[in-house]
Amino acid sequence: MGIINNNFLKLNESYLFQEINRRTREWMAKNPLREVLRLGVGNTTEPLTPVIVDAMHKKLNELSYVNTYTGYGDEQGNNDLRAALADFYKREYNVHLDRNEYFVSDGAKSDAGNIQELFSPSCKVAVQDPSYPVYVDSNVVGGRSGLYNSNQLSYDGFVFLNAASENGFIPSPPKEHVDIIYLCFPNNPTGAVATSEQLKAFVDYAKREKAIIIYDAAYADYIRTPGIPHTIYEIEGATSVAIEINSFSKNAGFTGVRLGWTIVPFDIEADGVEKGLLHKLWNRRQCTFFNGASNIAQSGGVAALSQEGRKECRGMVDYYLGNASIILNGIKKVGFECYGGINSPYIWTRCPKGMSSWEFFDYLLNKTGVVVTPGVGFGKQGEGYVRISSYGHRENIEKAIKKISEEL
Ligand code: PLP
Repeated sequence: MGIINNNFLKLNESYLFQEINRRTREWMAKNPLREVLRLGVGNTTEPLTPVIVDAMHKKLNELSYVNTYTGYGDEQGNNDLRAALADFYKREYNVHLDRNEYFVSDGAKSDAGNIQELFSPSCKVAVQDPSYPVYVDSNVVGGRSGLYNSNQLSYDGFVFLNAASENGFIPSPPKEHVDIIYLCFPNNPTGAVATSEQLKAFVDYAKREKAIIIYDAAYADYIRTPGIPHTIYEIEGATSVAIEINSFSKNAGFTGVRLGWTIVPFDIEADGVEKGLLHKLWNRRQCTFFNGASNIAQSGGVAALSQEGRKECRGMVDYYLGNASIILNGIKKVGFECYGGINSPYIWTRCPKGMSSWEFFDYLLNKTGVVVTPGVGFGKQGEGYVRISSYGHRENIEKAIKKISEEL
Protein backbone atom coordinates (compact mmCIF):
# COMPACT_ATOMS: atom_id res chain seq x y z
CA MET A 1 0.00 0.00 0.00
CA GLY A 2 1.30 3.44 -0.84
CA ILE A 3 1.96 5.42 2.30
CA ILE A 4 1.65 9.15 1.89
CA ASN A 5 4.06 11.82 3.07
CA ASN A 6 2.32 12.78 6.30
CA ASN A 7 3.86 16.23 6.19
CA PHE A 8 1.41 17.09 3.41
CA LEU A 9 -1.41 16.50 5.88
CA LYS A 10 0.01 19.22 8.14
CA LEU A 11 -0.62 21.84 5.45
CA ASN A 12 -3.39 24.14 6.46
CA GLU A 13 -6.04 24.64 3.80
CA SER A 14 -4.69 27.66 1.95
CA TYR A 15 -7.92 29.47 1.57
CA LEU A 16 -6.71 33.03 0.96
CA PHE A 17 -7.39 33.50 -2.76
CA GLN A 18 -10.25 30.99 -2.72
CA GLU A 19 -11.90 32.93 0.09
CA ILE A 20 -11.28 36.25 -1.68
CA ASN A 21 -12.97 34.83 -4.78
CA ARG A 22 -15.85 33.39 -2.78
CA ARG A 23 -16.58 36.68 -1.02
CA THR A 24 -16.19 38.63 -4.28
CA ARG A 25 -18.57 36.32 -6.15
CA GLU A 26 -21.11 36.56 -3.34
CA TRP A 27 -20.90 40.36 -3.41
CA MET A 28 -21.27 40.39 -7.21
CA ALA A 29 -24.40 38.24 -6.99
CA LYS A 30 -25.91 40.66 -4.49
CA ASN A 31 -24.79 43.75 -6.41
CA PRO A 32 -25.22 42.88 -10.09
CA LEU A 33 -25.13 46.50 -11.24
CA ARG A 34 -21.95 47.46 -9.41
CA GLU A 35 -18.45 47.07 -10.84
CA VAL A 36 -15.72 44.99 -9.19
CA LEU A 37 -12.25 46.54 -9.32
CA ARG A 38 -9.54 43.99 -8.56
CA LEU A 39 -6.41 45.28 -6.87
CA GLY A 40 -5.67 42.01 -5.17
CA VAL A 41 -3.46 39.61 -7.08
CA GLY A 42 0.14 40.04 -8.21
CA ASN A 43 -0.59 39.03 -11.78
CA THR A 44 0.84 41.11 -14.62
CA THR A 45 -1.53 42.68 -17.15
CA GLU A 46 0.60 44.47 -19.75
CA PRO A 47 1.73 42.77 -23.00
CA LEU A 48 5.20 41.43 -23.75
CA THR A 49 7.50 44.05 -25.25
CA PRO A 50 8.39 44.10 -29.00
CA VAL A 51 12.00 42.85 -28.67
CA ILE A 52 10.81 39.88 -26.63
CA VAL A 53 7.91 39.09 -28.95
CA ASP A 54 10.23 39.20 -32.00
CA ALA A 55 12.72 36.83 -30.38
CA MET A 56 9.99 34.38 -29.42
CA HIS A 57 8.44 34.51 -32.89
CA LYS A 58 11.86 33.85 -34.38
CA LYS A 59 12.38 30.83 -32.12
CA LEU A 60 8.94 29.48 -32.92
CA ASN A 61 9.75 29.86 -36.59
CA GLU A 62 13.00 27.93 -36.13
CA LEU A 63 11.07 25.16 -34.46
CA SER A 64 8.85 24.94 -37.54
CA TYR A 65 11.62 23.69 -39.86
CA VAL A 66 13.57 20.47 -39.82
CA ASN A 67 16.93 22.18 -40.29
CA THR A 68 16.50 24.54 -37.36
CA TYR A 69 14.33 22.48 -35.02
CA THR A 70 15.77 21.73 -31.56
CA GLY A 71 14.42 19.49 -28.80
CA TYR A 72 15.56 19.26 -25.20
CA GLY A 73 18.11 21.82 -24.14
CA ASP A 74 20.41 21.66 -21.13
CA GLU A 75 18.63 21.07 -17.84
CA GLN A 76 20.55 23.99 -16.35
CA GLY A 77 19.37 26.32 -19.10
CA ASN A 78 20.62 27.21 -22.53
CA ASN A 79 24.14 28.50 -22.70
CA ASP A 80 23.20 31.82 -24.30
CA LEU A 81 20.70 32.62 -21.55
CA ARG A 82 23.13 31.67 -18.78
CA ALA A 83 25.76 33.86 -20.44
CA ALA A 84 23.25 36.70 -20.80
CA LEU A 85 22.38 36.42 -17.09
CA ALA A 86 26.05 36.51 -16.07
CA ASP A 87 26.60 39.52 -18.33
CA PHE A 88 23.52 41.30 -16.96
CA TYR A 89 24.69 40.91 -13.32
CA LYS A 90 28.15 42.16 -14.32
CA ARG A 91 26.83 45.10 -16.33
CA GLU A 92 24.13 46.32 -13.97
CA TYR A 93 25.23 45.17 -10.51
CA ASN A 94 28.99 44.72 -10.86
CA VAL A 95 28.51 41.15 -9.66
CA HIS A 96 30.94 38.75 -11.33
CA LEU A 97 29.72 35.19 -11.37
CA ASP A 98 30.36 32.38 -13.81
CA ARG A 99 27.55 31.53 -16.23
CA ASN A 100 27.52 28.00 -14.79
CA GLU A 101 26.48 29.39 -11.41
CA TYR A 102 23.12 30.38 -13.00
CA PHE A 103 20.42 27.73 -13.28
CA VAL A 104 17.49 28.63 -15.52
CA SER A 105 14.07 27.44 -14.39
CA ASP A 106 10.39 27.70 -15.22
CA GLY A 107 9.94 30.38 -12.56
CA ALA A 108 10.89 31.49 -9.09
CA LYS A 109 8.02 29.72 -7.36
CA SER A 110 9.21 26.24 -8.37
CA ASP A 111 12.77 27.01 -7.28
CA ALA A 112 11.63 28.62 -4.03
CA GLY A 113 9.64 25.45 -3.30
CA ASN A 114 12.27 22.95 -4.48
CA ILE A 115 15.43 24.44 -2.99
CA GLN A 116 14.66 23.05 0.48
CA GLU A 117 15.22 19.54 -0.91
CA LEU A 118 18.95 20.19 -0.61
CA PHE A 119 18.75 20.49 3.17
CA SER A 120 18.28 18.08 6.01
CA PRO A 121 14.82 17.81 7.62
CA SER A 122 16.58 18.68 10.88
CA CYS A 123 17.38 22.23 9.71
CA LYS A 124 15.84 25.09 11.66
CA VAL A 125 14.21 27.55 9.27
CA ALA A 126 13.63 31.28 9.72
CA VAL A 127 11.14 33.23 7.59
CA GLN A 128 10.02 36.83 7.52
CA ASP A 129 6.51 37.32 8.89
CA PRO A 130 4.59 38.24 6.76
CA SER A 131 6.00 36.49 3.70
CA TYR A 132 5.25 34.80 0.39
CA PRO A 133 3.67 31.49 1.54
CA VAL A 134 5.79 29.02 -0.50
CA TYR A 135 8.82 29.32 1.84
CA VAL A 136 6.83 28.07 4.80
CA ASP A 137 4.69 25.53 2.95
CA SER A 138 7.63 23.86 1.16
CA ASN A 139 9.44 23.43 4.48
CA VAL A 140 6.33 21.96 6.07
CA VAL A 141 6.28 19.35 3.30
CA GLY A 142 10.04 18.89 3.77
CA GLY A 143 9.44 17.92 7.40
CA ARG A 144 10.97 21.00 9.05
CA SER A 145 7.92 22.08 11.02
CA GLY A 146 5.51 20.99 13.69
CA LEU A 147 1.76 21.13 13.32
CA TYR A 148 -0.31 24.16 12.37
CA ASN A 149 -0.79 26.37 15.39
CA SER A 150 -3.93 28.47 15.19
CA ASN A 151 -2.65 30.97 17.79
CA GLN A 152 0.48 31.59 15.76
CA LEU A 153 -1.54 31.43 12.49
CA SER A 154 1.32 29.28 11.17
CA TYR A 155 3.28 26.14 11.95
CA ASP A 156 5.29 25.33 15.04
CA GLY A 157 8.99 24.87 14.56
CA PHE A 158 9.79 27.93 12.44
CA VAL A 159 11.57 31.04 13.65
CA PHE A 160 9.47 34.01 12.57
CA LEU A 161 11.29 37.25 11.88
CA ASN A 162 8.68 39.85 12.64
CA ALA A 163 8.27 42.67 10.17
CA ALA A 164 6.23 45.52 11.62
CA SER A 165 5.95 49.28 11.22
CA GLU A 166 8.30 49.70 14.23
CA ASN A 167 11.21 48.13 12.35
CA GLY A 168 10.22 49.52 8.95
CA PHE A 169 9.18 45.95 8.02
CA ILE A 170 12.85 44.90 8.00
CA PRO A 171 13.49 42.33 10.71
CA SER A 172 16.88 41.82 12.32
CA PRO A 173 18.67 38.47 12.06
CA PRO A 174 17.42 35.83 14.50
CA LYS A 175 18.57 35.92 18.12
CA GLU A 176 18.97 32.14 18.16
CA HIS A 177 20.71 29.73 15.82
CA VAL A 178 18.95 28.83 12.59
CA ASP A 179 20.23 26.92 9.57
CA ILE A 180 18.24 28.45 6.72
CA ILE A 181 16.88 31.99 6.37
CA TYR A 182 14.45 33.05 3.67
CA LEU A 183 14.60 36.72 2.73
CA CYS A 184 12.63 38.55 0.07
CA PHE A 185 13.37 42.16 -0.96
CA PRO A 186 11.60 44.15 -2.28
CA ASN A 187 9.24 42.28 -0.04
CA ASN A 188 6.00 40.65 -0.99
CA PRO A 189 3.67 41.65 0.67
CA THR A 190 5.02 44.70 2.58
CA GLY A 191 6.92 46.40 -0.27
CA ALA A 192 9.86 47.02 2.09
CA VAL A 193 13.41 47.19 0.72
CA ALA A 194 16.57 46.43 2.70
CA THR A 195 19.68 48.61 2.74
CA SER A 196 23.19 47.21 2.32
CA GLU A 197 23.76 47.49 6.08
CA GLN A 198 20.58 45.56 6.84
CA LEU A 199 21.50 42.80 4.37
CA LYS A 200 25.09 42.75 5.65
CA ALA A 201 23.76 41.94 9.13
CA PHE A 202 22.13 38.81 7.67
CA VAL A 203 25.24 37.85 5.70
CA ASP A 204 27.38 38.27 8.84
CA TYR A 205 24.89 36.20 10.83
CA ALA A 206 24.93 33.46 8.18
CA LYS A 207 28.73 33.33 8.21
CA ARG A 208 28.84 33.20 11.99
CA GLU A 209 26.13 30.55 12.32
CA LYS A 210 27.03 28.61 9.15
CA ALA A 211 23.50 29.30 7.92
CA ILE A 212 22.32 29.57 4.32
CA ILE A 213 20.30 32.55 3.07
CA ILE A 214 17.74 31.93 0.35
CA TYR A 215 17.20 35.33 -1.19
CA ASP A 216 14.14 35.95 -3.36
CA ALA A 217 14.77 38.96 -5.59
CA ALA A 218 11.71 38.58 -7.84
CA TYR A 219 10.91 42.30 -7.56
CA ALA A 220 14.50 43.65 -7.83
CA ASP A 221 13.69 45.68 -10.95
CA TYR A 222 11.19 47.76 -8.99
CA ILE A 223 13.99 49.30 -6.94
CA ARG A 224 14.42 52.93 -7.93
CA THR A 225 15.99 54.43 -4.80
CA PRO A 226 19.74 54.77 -5.45
CA GLY A 227 21.98 52.69 -3.21
CA ILE A 228 19.47 49.95 -2.42
CA PRO A 229 20.97 46.56 -3.41
CA HIS A 230 19.24 44.69 -6.22
CA THR A 231 20.95 41.40 -5.44
CA ILE A 232 22.31 39.88 -2.24
CA TYR A 233 25.65 39.47 -4.05
CA GLU A 234 26.19 43.22 -3.84
CA ILE A 235 27.02 42.43 -0.21
CA GLU A 236 30.63 41.39 0.23
CA GLY A 237 31.04 37.72 1.04
CA ALA A 238 27.43 36.82 0.20
CA THR A 239 28.50 34.25 -2.40
CA SER A 240 29.70 31.99 0.42
CA VAL A 241 26.32 31.98 2.21
CA ALA A 242 23.49 32.91 -0.17
CA ILE A 243 21.43 31.34 -2.92
CA GLU A 244 19.45 33.84 -4.99
CA ILE A 245 16.16 33.15 -6.76
CA ASN A 246 14.78 35.45 -9.42
CA SER A 247 12.20 35.64 -12.16
CA PHE A 248 11.23 37.18 -15.48
CA SER A 249 7.59 37.33 -14.30
CA LYS A 250 7.34 40.76 -12.79
CA ASN A 251 9.92 42.65 -14.87
CA ALA A 252 9.23 41.19 -18.32
CA GLY A 253 5.63 40.02 -17.95
CA PHE A 254 6.49 36.29 -18.05
CA THR A 255 3.89 35.26 -15.44
CA GLY A 256 2.27 33.06 -18.11
CA VAL A 257 5.36 32.45 -20.27
CA ARG A 258 7.23 31.01 -17.22
CA LEU A 259 10.97 31.65 -16.79
CA GLY A 260 13.23 32.29 -13.83
CA TRP A 261 16.70 31.56 -12.52
CA THR A 262 18.52 30.54 -9.38
CA ILE A 263 22.12 31.28 -8.54
CA VAL A 264 23.95 28.68 -6.50
CA PRO A 265 27.51 30.02 -6.30
CA PHE A 266 30.52 27.68 -6.50
CA ASP A 267 31.68 29.38 -3.29
CA ILE A 268 28.68 28.58 -1.14
CA GLU A 269 29.40 26.37 1.83
CA ALA A 270 26.98 24.15 3.74
CA ASP A 271 27.89 23.09 7.24
CA GLY A 272 30.26 20.12 7.44
CA VAL A 273 30.73 19.50 3.70
CA GLU A 274 33.21 20.75 1.16
CA LYS A 275 32.76 24.05 -0.66
CA GLY A 276 30.97 23.53 -3.95
CA LEU A 277 28.85 20.57 -2.86
CA LEU A 278 25.62 22.61 -2.70
CA HIS A 279 26.21 23.79 -6.26
CA LYS A 280 26.79 20.20 -7.38
CA LEU A 281 23.68 18.98 -5.55
CA TRP A 282 21.42 21.61 -7.12
CA ASN A 283 22.85 20.64 -10.49
CA ARG A 284 22.10 16.99 -9.69
CA ARG A 285 18.60 17.88 -8.50
CA GLN A 286 17.78 19.84 -11.63
CA CYS A 287 19.22 17.22 -13.98
CA THR A 288 17.19 14.53 -12.22
CA PHE A 289 13.83 16.25 -11.84
CA PHE A 290 13.75 19.03 -14.44
CA ASN A 291 14.14 18.92 -18.21
CA GLY A 292 14.91 22.56 -18.83
CA ALA A 293 12.73 25.60 -19.36
CA SER A 294 10.81 26.13 -22.59
CA ASN A 295 13.19 27.06 -25.41
CA ILE A 296 10.75 29.71 -26.67
CA ALA A 297 10.65 31.28 -23.20
CA GLN A 298 14.46 31.18 -23.00
CA SER A 299 14.76 33.04 -26.31
CA GLY A 300 12.45 35.66 -24.85
CA GLY A 301 14.65 35.76 -21.75
CA VAL A 302 17.80 36.46 -23.76
CA ALA A 303 15.98 39.29 -25.55
CA ALA A 304 14.72 40.68 -22.24
CA LEU A 305 18.30 40.91 -20.99
CA SER A 306 19.64 42.67 -24.10
CA GLN A 307 20.19 46.44 -23.84
CA GLU A 308 17.02 47.08 -25.87
CA GLY A 309 15.06 44.50 -23.88
CA ARG A 310 16.15 46.02 -20.59
CA LYS A 311 15.01 49.44 -21.79
CA GLU A 312 11.60 48.12 -22.81
CA CYS A 313 11.16 46.11 -19.61
CA ARG A 314 12.08 49.15 -17.56
CA GLY A 315 9.21 50.92 -19.31
CA MET A 316 6.88 48.11 -18.27
CA VAL A 317 8.02 48.26 -14.65
CA ASP A 318 7.70 52.07 -14.76
CA TYR A 319 4.10 51.61 -15.81
CA TYR A 320 3.31 49.44 -12.76
CA LEU A 321 5.26 51.81 -10.52
CA GLY A 322 3.15 54.63 -11.98
CA ASN A 323 0.06 52.68 -10.92
CA ALA A 324 1.60 52.16 -7.48
CA SER A 325 2.17 55.89 -7.12
CA ILE A 326 -1.46 56.65 -8.06
CA ILE A 327 -2.64 54.15 -5.43
CA LEU A 328 -0.22 55.39 -2.79
CA ASN A 329 -1.12 59.05 -3.24
CA GLY A 330 -4.83 58.30 -3.51
CA ILE A 331 -5.09 56.26 -0.35
CA LYS A 332 -2.78 58.57 1.60
CA LYS A 333 -5.17 61.41 0.77
CA VAL A 334 -8.01 59.41 2.27
CA GLY A 335 -5.90 59.26 5.42
CA PHE A 336 -4.75 55.64 5.38
CA GLU A 337 -1.40 54.66 6.84
CA CYS A 338 0.50 52.89 4.10
CA TYR A 339 3.94 51.56 3.23
CA GLY A 340 5.76 50.25 0.15
CA GLY A 341 4.65 51.25 -3.34
CA ILE A 342 7.87 53.16 -4.12
CA ASN A 343 10.38 50.39 -4.84
CA SER A 344 7.67 47.79 -5.10
CA PRO A 345 4.38 47.07 -6.88
CA TYR A 346 2.67 46.48 -3.51
CA ILE A 347 1.17 48.99 -1.12
CA TRP A 348 0.91 47.67 2.42
CA THR A 349 -1.97 49.45 4.08
CA ARG A 350 -2.95 49.45 7.73
CA CYS A 351 -6.66 48.78 8.20
CA PRO A 352 -8.38 51.84 9.67
CA LYS A 353 -10.23 51.94 12.97
CA GLY A 354 -8.57 48.77 14.27
CA MET A 355 -10.35 46.57 11.73
CA SER A 356 -8.95 43.10 11.04
CA SER A 357 -7.68 42.28 7.56
CA TRP A 358 -10.89 40.48 6.61
CA GLU A 359 -13.15 43.11 8.18
CA PHE A 360 -11.46 45.80 6.09
CA PHE A 361 -11.57 43.58 3.00
CA ASP A 362 -15.37 43.31 3.38
CA TYR A 363 -15.78 47.00 4.25
CA LEU A 364 -13.82 48.11 1.18
CA LEU A 365 -15.62 45.68 -1.12
CA ASN A 366 -19.06 46.75 0.14
CA LYS A 367 -18.34 50.45 -0.03
CA THR A 368 -16.33 50.63 -3.26
CA GLY A 369 -16.27 47.29 -5.12
CA VAL A 370 -12.46 47.28 -4.74
CA VAL A 371 -10.86 43.90 -4.00
CA VAL A 372 -7.57 43.80 -2.09
CA THR A 373 -5.64 40.98 -0.38
CA PRO A 374 -6.02 40.53 3.40
CA GLY A 375 -2.56 40.82 4.96
CA VAL A 376 -3.25 38.03 7.42
CA GLY A 377 -3.00 35.58 4.50
CA PHE A 378 0.78 36.18 4.55
CA GLY A 379 1.32 35.51 8.26
CA LYS A 380 0.33 36.57 11.74
CA GLN A 381 2.11 39.92 11.48
CA GLY A 382 -0.01 40.67 8.42
CA GLU A 383 -3.17 40.85 10.54
CA GLY A 384 -4.59 44.37 10.51
CA TYR A 385 -3.15 45.11 7.04
CA VAL A 386 -4.17 44.63 3.43
CA ARG A 387 -1.95 44.39 0.37
CA ILE A 388 -2.95 46.53 -2.58
CA SER A 389 -1.45 45.48 -5.89
CA SER A 390 -0.52 47.85 -8.70
CA TYR A 391 -0.86 45.20 -11.41
CA GLY A 392 -3.71 46.33 -13.60
CA HIS A 393 -4.59 48.58 -16.50
CA ARG A 394 -4.18 52.26 -15.65
CA GLU A 395 -7.84 53.10 -16.20
CA ASN A 396 -8.93 50.44 -13.69
CA ILE A 397 -6.43 51.64 -11.12
CA GLU A 398 -7.65 55.22 -11.56
CA LYS A 399 -11.27 54.12 -11.33
CA ALA A 400 -10.56 52.18 -8.12
CA ILE A 401 -8.78 55.10 -6.48
CA LYS A 402 -11.54 57.50 -7.52
CA LYS A 403 -14.09 55.17 -5.94
CA ILE A 404 -12.05 54.96 -2.73
CA SER A 405 -11.66 58.77 -2.61
CA GLU A 406 -15.37 59.33 -3.14
CA GLU A 407 -16.80 56.60 -0.93
CA LEU A 408 -14.50 56.43 2.11
N1 PLP B 1 8.65 35.21 -5.41
C1 PLP B 1 7.80 36.14 -4.96
C2 PLP B 1 8.20 36.93 -3.78
C3 PLP B 1 6.57 36.35 -5.58
O1 PLP B 1 5.73 37.27 -5.10
C4 PLP B 1 6.23 35.56 -6.70
C5 PLP B 1 4.93 35.73 -7.38
O2 PLP B 1 4.04 36.42 -7.01
C6 PLP B 1 7.13 34.61 -7.12
C7 PLP B 1 8.33 34.45 -6.47
C8 PLP B 1 6.77 33.71 -8.27
O3 PLP B 1 7.48 34.00 -9.40
P1 PLP B 1 7.33 33.13 -10.71
O4 PLP B 1 6.19 33.66 -11.50
O5 PLP B 1 8.64 33.28 -11.39
O6 PLP B 1 7.10 31.70 -10.31
